[in-house]
Amino acid sequence: MAIIVQKYGGTSVGTVERIQAVAQRVQKTVLAGNSLVVVVSAMGKTTDDLVKLAKEISTNPSRREMDMLLSTGEQVSIALLSMALQELGQPAISLTGAQVGIVTEAKHSRARILEISTERIAGHLDEGKVVVVAGFQGVTSSALPGGRQVTREITTLGRGGSDTSAVALAAALEACCCEIYTDVPGILTADPRLIPDAQVMAEITCDEMLELASLGAKVLHPRAVEIARNYGITLVVKSSWTDEAGTKVISPSPCARSLEGLELVYPVDAVEFDADQGKVSMLRVPDRPGVAAELFGEIGRQDIDVDLIIQSIHEGNTNDIAFTVASNAASRASSVATAILPALGSSQARSQAVPRERGEVMADNNIAKVSIVGAGMIGRPGVAAQMFATLADAGINIGMISASEIKVSCTIAAQEGDRAVEILCQAFDVSSHQATFPGRAVGTSALPGRAVGTSPETPVRGVALDKNQARLAILSVPDRPGIAAQIFGLLAQHQISVDIIIQSQRCRVINGVPTRDIAFTVAQSQVEIARLALEELRAVRGRPEKSVRGRPEKSEWGYSEIVVRRAIAKVSAVGIGMVKHPGVAAQMFAALAAQQINIEMIATSEIKISCVVAEAEGVKALQAIHAVFGLAGGQTIMVPP
Ligand code: ASP
Ligand code: MG
Repeated sequence: MAIIVQKYGGTSVGTVERIQAVAQRVQKTVLAGNSLVVVVSAMGKTTDDLVKLAKEISTNPSRREMDMLLSTGEQVSIALLSMALQELGQPAISLTGAQVGIVTEAKHSRARILEISTERIAGHLDEGKVVVVAGFQGVTSSALPGGRQVTREITTLGRGGSDTSAVALAAALEACCCEIYTDVPGILTADPRLIPDAQVMAEITCDEMLELASLGAKVLHPRAVEIARNYGITLVVKSSWTDEAGTKVISPSPCARSLEGLELVYPVDAVEFDADQGKVSMLRVPDRPGVAAELFGEIGRQDIDVDLIIQSIHEGNTNDIAFTVASNAASRASSVATAILPALGSSQARSQAVPRERGEVMADNNIAKVSIVGAGMIGRPGVAAQMFATLADAGINIGMISASEIKVSCTIAAQEGDRAVEILCQAFDVSSHQATFPGRAVGTSALPGRAVGTSPETPVRGVALDKNQARLAILSVPDRPGIAAQIFGLLAQHQISVDIIIQSQRCRVINGVPTRDIAFTVAQSQVEIARLALEELRAVRGRPEKSVRGRPEKSEWGYSEIVVRRAIAKVSAVGIGMVKHPGVAAQMFAALAAQQINIEMIATSEIKISCVVAEAEGVKALQAIHAVFGLAGGQTIMVPP
């Protein structure tokens, strides 16, 4: 008999009536000839209420006691659902995470799952029972000195963690699928509270889902998607109120993977490289709405496929935009850029003090792109820093950096390509993949099944808005190996997850040292910690630096200034359909230009384009791109309050 894992969220088990309705749905699935494991969340807002209670007693409750408290919520719902099933005459048994043997790390309030014992569940399934398991919780297992005894502490997986429990159980039990029942009809093309005509997607790949993390997180815990992707589990997200099909989240075909250390898999699962790229940089183009749209519109009309695009922070009243293309298209692309430059207009002098600047196009045909890819980078700060450090230790300088949720790409000198791939594969213990340019197709070949059977009519599957980010820019850092590694290593030490990272193209020579600016975005709540951490770096100035390839390099390095901008929003469009589909970026930029929205930063990966805009324009920007990609439908999605 096929095993199905079903997970019901808080609203789906929010009342006695809802629990009874769930019991009926569960029984129906059993009667259709399946073995069923059901994972449930705490009823309604129980977890929030428990948090409030704790805060009334203590401003800083111990994490252990918090886990003890919060894990009770799920224990209520498993017992009640089990009773409701028994009332229907359906044999059922409820089990806590500890009873099942969901073993986690000893990290209270954010534990990752290490392994799951399946014997007890399998036994109950054989007896014809539905097994109802408490989501969001697990238990630690550590041998005491002497190795005889174990201490068992209750842990929780982090808010929203029941999804992760369900998918992990599906992996451990080799279930045929995992159904996530929630209070929305599936995964939507945008947040319906901002876009009332957002539509349910019929399907989405795990990679797209992860790139849309800020949109998806509310519906699906990113760690659940990570497990589904790693173990090849088919997920379906649907409403527990209707019988509609919902959204299928497609995973790559399963590859044999050990279930040991289930959630501790390598954060990086491939190194990709593309030795055949050329870079075009446009320096000092005017900082006004429409510039990126005009440039990439023209590039698209010339049928040139663009790979990475980055636009760094503006300086004065101009920006730098850089992009990569297949090397055989580089000279054509740079002619297009040169031809369009006068039409973009020279920057308007904002004041007498700021002189008009002249634009400039630079082309470099001699670059390679290396990327690290992996779902496990989300929530693990330090992976990007490790990549930068690995390159730095080999003395390889990084040209462009572009990071998205599941990928970090760097351009480097072409002749360093082979060496870079070798050391990165070593550092992350993975094998490499030759990327297949032309087109934004680079990398989709890397994982089996990533792009199979999904050719949406529109190149973009969904759009997302993240208003919780702030931008930091470090001005005038020396342009040489090891600097990015230090910056992002330091941030990782402070547990700061960095989102978009962009290194400026413009080079300023200060005291004979070429410098560039490095800008990145972090969660607003972390911006102050990040700024303080970076202040430490200033103190490094003058101290001898770590040796580079055995050569101790004495250097003075610091930066001139850190600039923080909080009032930003990030809008992203995601879709595997943009691979080999020139002009998608141009379409997005044009939609923003039509609304007179200025683009402050751009970063792309193969399946994602992100723009930073002013916070006040975030929603308008989101609406504009949702509309331009034809994602809107006639139907209005009901969202629960
Ligand atoms: N009850 C937990 C929470 O509210 C876990 C979950 O619902 O997924 O975060
Ligand atoms: Mg949830």
